[in-house]
Amino acid sequence: MRSILFFGLVILVFLTILIFMQRLRRNSSVKPDQTEKNQSNDTIERCEVCGTFSPSSETVQDEFGHHFCNQKHLEEFNKD
Ligand SMILES: [Zn+2]
Repeated sequence: MRSILFFGLVILVFLTILIFMQRLRRNSSVKPDQTEKNQSNDTIERCEVCGTFSPSSETVQDEFGHHFCNQKHLEEFNKD
């Protein structure tokens, strides 16, 4: 009985860390200084999911440098 409780606790801690990491990653992709820079060095980037071209200031970027037109496509791309 005790081992089941311990196992449940480990899963709970693991899930908490996972959610925390995802939230941290999401926060880092939306930098507040991005809007200030967008006029000077804006490049056109292609969405990896739908192929839409948009300015880099308007795209969402993952940790591998892929660009997406929105957060939904980023999550879709990282799913598989
Ligand atoms: Zn897209």
